[in-house]
Amino acid sequence: MTTTPQVIVGHLIGGQAIADIGRTQPVFNPATGAVSRHVALASKATVESAISSAEAAWPDWRNTPAIKRARVMFRFKQLLEDNADAICESISAEHGKVLNDAMGELQRGIENVEFACGAPQLLKGEHNVNVGPGIDSWSEFQPLGVVAGITPFNFPAMVPLWMWPLAVVCGNCFILKPSERDPSSALLIADLAQRAGLPPGVLNVVNGDKEAVDTLLTDSRVKAISFVGSTPIAEYIYATGSAHGKRVQALGGAKNHAIVMPDGDIQGAVDALMGAAYGSCGERCMAISVVVAVGEQTANQLIAGLKAEMLGMRVGPGSDNNNDMGPLVTREHRDKVAAYVDAGVAEGAELVVDGRALRVDGHEQGFFLGACLFDRVGAEMSIYRDEIFGPVLCVVRVASMQQAMDLVNAHEYGNGTCIFTRDGEAARYFSDNIQVGMVGINVPLPVPVAYHSFGGWKRSLFGDLHAYGPDGVRFYTKRKTITQRWPTSGVREGARFSFPSHG
Ligand code: NAD
Repeated sequence: MTTTPQVIVGHLIGGQAIADIGRTQPVFNPATGAVSRHVALASKATVESAISSAEAAWPDWRNTPAIKRARVMFRFKQLLEDNADAICESISAEHGKVLNDAMGELQRGIENVEFACGAPQLLKGEHNVNVGPGIDSWSEFQPLGVVAGITPFNFPAMVPLWMWPLAVVCGNCFILKPSERDPSSALLIADLAQRAGLPPGVLNVVNGDKEAVDTLLTDSRVKAISFVGSTPIAEYIYATGSAHGKRVQALGGAKNHAIVMPDGDIQGAVDALMGAAYGSCGERCMAISVVVAVGEQTANQLIAGLKAEMLGMRVGPGSDNNNDMGPLVTREHRDKVAAYVDAGVAEGAELVVDGRALRVDGHEQGFFLGACLFDRVGAEMSIYRDEIFGPVLCVVRVASMQQAMDLVNAHEYGNGTCIFTRDGEAARYFSDNIQVGMVGINVPLPVPVAYHSFGGWKRSLFGDLHAYGPDGVRFYTKRKTITQRWPTSGVREGARFSFPSHG
C-alpha cells in the first residue's frame, strides 16, 4: 500500500487554514485502497479556539443586515457552480461515489444555498396591531449565537450544505465537524465561502473524532447542534447535547421499504429500485434496502426483472462516469457489509445475486463489493432488521398491502418509504397511515427539496425539528415576542391588579 503522509487535511479557524500537528488518521482512496492523505483530529483546545473565534465574530455578524448576509450566499452559489468539477472530484476520490452521482449531491446542496438566499423573507416576523387598546405585538426570530454541525461520510458536500448556509444567513456563527473519512470537500467548499465574502470566524471547520465532537457537545458557548449520522451516535448526541442545555436535532439511520403492489408498473418499479438500492453503493440514508412484494406473482416478476438488470451493472472507480456503482467507503465497511451477506445466507434467505466475489481489474485493492439481492427474507433476520448501508437489497414476500404496512410500521426506523401502485385510494391510505417521515408514491427516493424540510420518524430522528427548509429556519433561530405600548398624552389608567385581558 502506498502512502503520502505529508498531505494533511487540517482545519479552518477564524478564516485561517490550520494544520494541526497532533493526532491524525489516514484518508483512503476507496477505488485503489491507497492512503491519499491524513486528516488532523482536533484536540479539545483546537475546538475551543474555533468556538472562541465563532464567538468573537458573532456580534458583528448578528447585526449585519439579512440582505447583506444573503448576498454572500448569492456569490457563494456562483462559486460552487464554477468549481463544481473540482468539488465532485474530491468527493469521488474520498467517498468513492461516481462523479455524476457526486454532481447530483452537490446540486442538491446548492439548492439549500439558493433557499438561504431568501434570508430577508425567511426571517420576517409576525405582527399584530391593537392586541389591546393602543398595544401592538410582534414576534421576531433572533439567531442563537454559536451553533455546530456534525456530519456523516455519505454526503460530504450536501449534508454540511443542509446546515451551515441557513444557520449563517439566520445570523449565527457555525462550527462544522465533517466526517473524518472524507473531509476534503467540506474544506474546499468553506474556502469558497470565504472567497464569497463570509467574514472570518463566521464559518469554522474542525476535523476530528469523538474528542472534537464531545467538546462541541459540552462547551456552554455552543447553543445548538445539528447532527446527521448513524442512530447509536445520534442518540448519544441528542442525550449529551440536551443534557448540556443545547437545542439538538440528530438525524439517524434508516431501513427504507418499497412496497410493490400487484397493480403497479412492475418494470418501472424495477428500474426505480435499481438506482434507489444500488446508487452510491447503497450508502444513502434514503436508499431502498427492502422491497415488500405484495403477492407471489409480483415477487416473481420483481426478482426476474432485478436479476436481469443486475447482470448489466458496471462496477468500478467513481472517477469513470460509465460505472453505475463505485466502491464502499473503507475496507472495514466493505467487510462489514460482506459479513451481513454471509449472515443472510446462514439465516436462510435466498441469495439470488451474490456480489461477494466481484474483482475490478486494475483495482484489486479497492473496497469493491458487487450488488447483492436476497429473496424470501424474514422479519427476524439481521439483514432485515439492521441498516446494512451497502449494495444489498432484500425482498420480503407478503400477501396483502396491510401486511406490508404492518412490517414498515413495526420497524424501529422511519426515515423514508415508497409505494408502487396505480390505485389512488391505496396510495392515499398508505401515505396517511404509514409511520414514516418521508413518503414516495411511485417515487423511490422521496428526498424533500430544499424549501421543504428533511427528517424521519421513530429512531431515524431525535429532536423536534427536521433539517433545512422552514424547520431549519426555526431550528437556527429563537422566537422573541415583543408587546409595546406608548403613553397616550393626557390618559392615565391607574394601577390594575387583575391579570391583563380583554374579555
Ligand atoms: P457515524 O454515526 O459513524 O458518524 C457521523 C459523525 O459522527 C461523524 O462526523 C463522526 O466523526 C461522528 N462520530 C462517530 N462516532 C462518534 C462517537 N462515538 N462520538 C462522537 N462522535 C462520533 O455515521 P457515518 O458512518 O459517517 O454515516 C452513515 C450513517 O449516517 C448511516 O447510518 C446513515 O443512515 C446516516 N445518515 C442519516 C441521514 C439522515 O438524514 N437521517 C443522512 C445521511 C446519513
